[in-house]
Amino acid sequence: MPVLRQPLLLLARSGRVKRLVTAMPVSAGIVRSYVPGERTQDAVRATGELVDDHLRVTLDYLGEDTLDAEQADATVQAYLDALAALSARGLTRHAEVSVKLSAVGQAISQQGRKIALENARTICRAARNAGTTVTLDMEDHTTTDATLATLRELRKDFPETGAVLQAYLHRTEADCRALAYEGSRVRLCKGAYDEPAAAAFQSRLDVDRSYVRCLKVLLAGQGYPMIATHDPRMITIASSLASRNGREAGSYEFQMLYGIRPDEQRRLAAAGETVRVYVPYGTEWYGYLMRRLAERPQNLTFFLRSLISKK
Ligand SMILES: Cc1cc2nc3c(=O)[nH]c(=O)nc-3n(C[C@H](O)[C@H](O)[C@H](O)COP(=O)(O)OP(=O)(O)OC[C@H]3O[C@@H](n4cnc5c(N)ncnc54)[C@H](O)[C@@H]3O)c2cc1C
Repeated sequence: MPVLRQPLLLLARSGRVKRLVTAMPVSAGIVRSYVPGERTQDAVRATGELVDDHLRVTLDYLGEDTLDAEQADATVQAYLDALAALSARGLTRHAEVSVKLSAVGQAISQQGRKIALENARTICRAARNAGTTVTLDMEDHTTTDATLATLRELRKDFPETGAVLQAYLHRTEADCRALAYEGSRVRLCKGAYDEPAAAAFQSRLDVDRSYVRCLKVLLAGQGYPMIATHDPRMITIASSLASRNGREAGSYEFQMLYGIRPDEQRRLAAAGETVRVYVPYGTEWYGYLMRRLAERPQNLTFFLRSLISKK
């Protein structure tokens, strides 16, 4: 793992640094390269542009760890607005939404899980009515069991709801086996949080090996794997495992983040693969940005330069 990963993820929790960084307008260089804007219309515009380029989209209204029921309600409303706007533009055939349960109330004490389930249900219902689906993002390992339990509940009424599994967790290969059933949409990513050795592999090599083991399970299984990585090696391995398992294009998909390896996104789509771009938007971009910087500390110089030029 890059040496700077842990300090950057720690900084992500500092209120002072957050105040400094968020004083930058969203258009400031590095933020703008990962987040198309703060408003629903920015997200829908970016979606339209990506769809024109034969890509699919999952929209994420940024925000996490809310302890405030009103804030959770506002997040639900933002998703309903986004789904209505996508529907009005005829984009829901190509665009779904990704939801963090902690943004819709999971972390609120006592009733949090119940509140998050009901809020997620409201979004799933609106997505279904708009002709699309929801994927539940996965957050740090202390929330994995709760998130998978909520997923099971949601899938009773909305079996199309997607799950996310993180290859860096020791438990994930087993979770892949449990979720590789027919109709089950599973996004496999490496994982973006700072996790302890008791829960997660710590070296890049071990995470990559786990990613490949998980790919084998998902691509040999009956579900719909969503291969979320920018790593050229993982993409090549996934492609050959897909053909070895007799999977046709369209029985799985690749996913990448907005602004990361856009040429590769278009290359894969032109080669006939289904490619979905994760598009985050909204004012709460701080935690998301810090995780992206932690993945790629080379971006830090660029980031610091844009920070200083605003002071
Ligand atoms: C669609 C999608 C959804 C995701 N959802 C979740 C989730 O719910 N929960 C979660 O924990 N994580 C999620 N992630 C993040 C994921 O866990 C990784 O942190 C992230 O994708 C980087 O891992 P990688 O597989 O791309 O491999 P890496 O080995 O980190 O990167 C491989 C290559 O990709 C490029 N790259 C990677 N990151 C960057 C960057 N920030 N800037 C520029 N280039 C970069 C570089 O060329 C790098 O060499 C998601 C990722 C994607 C693509």
